[in-house]
Amino acid sequence: MIRLENIHKSYVTGNNKLHVLKGIDLHIEQGEFVSIMGSSGSGKSTLLNILGLLDVHDEGSYYLAGRQIASMSETKAAQLRNEYLGFVFQSFNLISFKNAMENVALPLYYQKVSRKKRNLMAMDFLDRMGLKEWAEHMPNELSGGQKQRIAIARALISKPKVILADEPTGALDTATSYEVMEIIKEINGEGITVILVTHEHDIAAMTRKIIRLKDGQIQEIIRNGELGRFRHTYMKELETA
Ligand code: ADP
Ligand code: MG
Repeated sequence: MIRLENIHKSYVTGNNKLHVLKGIDLHIEQGEFVSIMGSSGSGKSTLLNILGLLDVHDEGSYYLAGRQIASMSETKAAQLRNEYLGFVFQSFNLISFKNAMENVALPLYYQKVSRKKRNLMAMDFLDRMGLKEWAEHMPNELSGGQKQRIAIARALISKPKVILADEPTGALDTATSYEVMEIIKEINGEGITVILVTHEHDIAAMTRKIIRLKDGQIQEIIRNGELGRFRHTYMKELETA
C-alpha cells in the first residue's frame, strides 16, 4: 500500500535549513495497524504529512498504491487523497459553524454528491459512532470525545483505504482515549490501514507495529508479539528519564 525509500525532508526558514527526515525506509501493507512514536520534534507529523500528500519530500521515493508520488501535480495529489486517504487530527478540525451532520458530510460535498444523499450517508456514519442524536448540534456543544468521533466519521465517509491520524487522542482524557482507540481498532478490523502518531506508550501498544523515530531516522520497528521488548525499552527509558 505504502512504500518509502530513503525519504529526506528539510525545512528552510531564512538562512536556516533544518534536516527533519534523514533517510526513511518504510513499507506498510494494506490492513496494517501502525503507530509512529518519538519525542517532540522527531519528525512524526512531518512524516505523516508526507504520507498524507499534505507535504512533499525532497529526496527519495514514495509509492502509494503503486503510484509514485514525486512531481505529482496538486490536482492529482488531491484526487489521490480523496480516493485513498482519511485524516484525523488532535484538534479535531471541525468547522465551527456547521453542525455534526454537515461536518461529516463535507468530503462528499467536494465529490459533488447531492445534499440529500450526503446527509443520509452522514447520518449513517454518525449512527455507527453512536452520535445520531447529536446530528444537529454544533461542535461547541460537543465533548472532546464526541468531536473526535465526528472527525472519524468524516474521515470514513469517503471510504478511504488508509486513515492517517496525528495524535488522535492527544486532547482526550484516558477513558475517552481508549474509547476512541476502540473505534479506530474496529475500523482497522474492517481492513482499513491505520497509521497513527502518538507519544503515549499505552496508545502505541494498542497498535500492531510501532515505528520509533529518533532524530529523523527510524530507530526501531517493533512488531506485534514483540511488545514485551517494547515494554522493556519503555521501562528503561523511564528509569533514565
Ligand atoms: P513531531 O511531530 O515529531 O513533534 P514535526 O514533524 O512536527 O515533529 O517537526 C519536526 C521539526 O521540524 C521540528 O523541529 C519542527 O519545529 C520543524 N518543523 C515542522 N514543520 C515545519 C515548517 N513548516 N517549517 C519549519 N520547520 C518546521
Ligand atoms: Mg507532531
